[in-house]
Amino acid sequence: MYIELNEEQRLIQDTARTFATVELEPIAARLDQTGDQEAFLGNLKKLAELGFMGLNIKDEYGGTQAGMVAFSVAITEIARACASTAVTLSVNNLVCEAIQAIGSEVQKKKYIPKLCSGEYVAGGFALTEAGAGSDLAAITTSAVLDGSEWVLNGSKMFITSAPYAGVFVVWAVTDKTAPKGKGISCLLVEAGTKGLLVGKAEQKMGQHAAVTNEVIFEECRIPKGALMGKLNDGLRVALRELPGGRVGIGSLALGIGLAAMDYATKYAQERTQFGQKILNFQAIQWMIADAYTELEAARLLLMQAAFRGEQGQIFAKEAAMAKMYATEAANRACYAALQMMGGYGYSKEFPLERYARDVRVTSIYEGTNEIQRVIIAKEILRGF
Ligand SMILES: Cc1cc2nc3c(=O)[nH]c(=O)nc-3n(C[C@H](O)[C@H](O)[C@H](O)COP(=O)(O)OP(=O)(O)OC[C@H]3O[C@@H](n4cnc5c(N)ncnc54)[C@H](O)[C@@H]3O)c2cc1C
Repeated sequence: MYIELNEEQRLIQDTARTFATVELEPIAARLDQTGDQEAFLGNLKKLAELGFMGLNIKDEYGGTQAGMVAFSVAITEIARACASTAVTLSVNNLVCEAIQAIGSEVQKKKYIPKLCSGEYVAGGFALTEAGAGSDLAAITTSAVLDGSEWVLNGSKMFITSAPYAGVFVVWAVTDKTAPKGKGISCLLVEAGTKGLLVGKAEQKMGQHAAVTNEVIFEECRIPKGALMGKLNDGLRVALRELPGGRVGIGSLALGIGLAAMDYATKYAQERTQFGQKILNFQAIQWMIADAYTELEAARLLLMQAAFRGEQGQIFAKEAAMAKMYATEAANRACYAALQMMGGYGYSKEFPLERYARDVRVTSIYEGTNEIQRVIIAKEILRGF
């Protein structure tokens, strides 16, 4: 068995690496400090032109159709330079994948090309609520049919890209009498619809350029045809689509972990203490050995999950394992890399403290790692 990228995947990886080095890396620290949206959105536009907004989306809908492995390696390369850009791409891909999976032909043709081409800056994935994070079935946002329209009421929390999302995939309760989780549907809500309000932006620990807001629905009326997929089948859709997103987040974490270790390892080659390079100390070498080994294991888990995903196989367990392991390995790598640089790792003059902040959320969003463990254990125990 030989695990290697094919020519197209390598080309995408190289293109992503070049873009990250030339366009993202030089401004990443500034974006972190100022959240400069003009520069951030400008880069998203360029990435759309390069085909990175729909890497895993069919070409008939304007995607690049490069597959999930290519998507994974591209996200890793982008995240090496700018985690905010990588998460925005990853969520956009998730929105496109959801529409591609269950949208009608009309919905697919209407929205996906705009999400891939940059006509819409990005898409919004509106699932989480204040009272429903890990417990997705506990959402209370409702959609009630009134003649030829759905009327939405409720609010969503932590919605990435909300201020500039062109369209939101929204989960809402459409049958209040159904058992928990059985009366939820998936709807498409366009930006600018009356009654759709983008609320306050979350002040976050890291990933500052990627905006995350509350989204509120107040008597928000959308056409009956905005229902996506089958009525009351929305929770199953969310659970089926999230594995693809988890490959994205694991790949993102891997990129941050690699960036941190690469930076600290170069630093260790330069830094002298006790009359020698600190790289000579076994304690430093062990940190390098441990971190790169774990990151490589993470990469292999991600490749396995992505490969199964693009082959159309069930990959919920593999995606959960890859997300859990990669995000924790990357958190450990960032911690070790910062330690390797001593006080300079803690200084804002160097990127280590940014990496450490940016990587932290990866074990939380798109399903916390405790939830990944619940999924993994459930899948394993199914076989016993
Ligand atoms: C920056 C950012 C961006 C985000 N973007 C989006 C987005 O675009 N769209 C969207 O819909 N959501 C988004 N989210 C929401 C994110 O997915 C949730 O925060 C996450 O799923 C966890 O939900 P919660 O925060 O409510 O935590 P909770 O569910 O309240 O969890 C709190 C703690 O309890 C633990 N816990 C809960 N249930 C269990 C259990 N059964 N077993 C063991 N432990 C458990 C959790 O693991 C965690 O440690 C984003 C979040 C952040 C921080």
